[in-house]
Amino acid sequence: MVHWSPFVVSFRKRYPWVQLAGHAGNFQAGDYGRVLKRYCECEQQCLQKLRDDVLQPHVPGYYGVVKKDDQEYNVMDDLLADFESPSIMDCKMGSRTYLEEELSKARERPRLRKDMFEKMVAVDPEAPTEQERAQQGVLKPRYMQWRETLSSTATLGFRIEGIKKADGTCNTNFKKTKQKEQVMKALEDFVEGNNQILKLYLHQLKELRSVLEKSPFFRTHEVVGSSLLFVHDASVKARVWMIDFGKTVPLPDQQTLDHRTPWVEGNQEDGYLWGLDNLIDIFSTIKEE
Ligand code: ATP
Ligand code: MG
Ligand code: MG
Repeated sequence: MVHWSPFVVSFRKRYPWVQLAGHAGNFQAGDYGRVLKRYCECEQQCLQKLRDDVLQPHVPGYYGVVKKDDQEYNVMDDLLADFESPSIMDCKMGSRTYLEEELSKARERPRLRKDMFEKMVAVDPEAPTEQERAQQGVLKPRYMQWRETLSSTATLGFRIEGIKKADGTCNTNFKKTKQKEQVMKALEDFVEGNNQILKLYLHQLKELRSVLEKSPFFRTHEVVGSSLLFVHDASVKARVWMIDFGKTVPLPDQQTLDHRTPWVEGNQEDGYLWGLDNLIDIFSTIKEE
């Protein structure tokens, strides 16, 4: 027997999946406005803990793990689902994008890397020291630290990873966007001078900051390589979420971070709130112009 229900004639909106960072194969479409991200235990732990933290409204909802074609995935909300032709920006937060543990690992069995030396020279022929030039190689930790100085990561505590606008134009070439003025220009272009959108973003960034300052999760984790995802559309809806917890790790013992103190190796500070302060300042400046 066929039941005709007048209320369930809903068609799920189809829209293209937009991914501004990471490997293309890391995501799959899920059901009911959800996405699947390739499983990572660290991220699962975070998403699970965040369900019970004050940050919960500021992160995608989490729905556990599914297996598809022999690969496991974390299932979470698709943050684009409620938008119509959205403009999207990914800002990677923090004053460094590698974990302290990655740095110590890179120091084990130190070895001169010719490939890294060459990458360095390709970007900036002046970057290697005299000694590095003579050796035609650099050590990995040195390379990792140098790379952070190319973008605004080291100087502003965040960097733009990618921007896709409603008109379809997409730019992920911000690796050398470093100066405050360059960042400002990119942000202005993203909001296309729409003051209302700017106001909505600014309001949410300030709200997020105050929640972060209260969050037990945030206080007890080193948050590295995590992004803020900005989404707005022509209906003048704008939202900001925290995403990507693949390198967000719990601190040992009773240790806590303030996320503003400058990083010195061993203190595990990540500069997340310092970067957010700077981002808020820049948005405020644009709004007042
Ligand atoms: P990387 O570590 O290189 O940044 P990753 O594989 O960890 O990449 P994410 O950074 O989590 O992947 O996501 C990559 C991109 O996918 C984001 O920039 C964003 O465009 C999109 N994205 C991620 N999660 C969501 C989500 N829940 N809803 C909508 N879009 C998302
Ligand atoms: Mg990311
Ligand atoms: Mg990641």
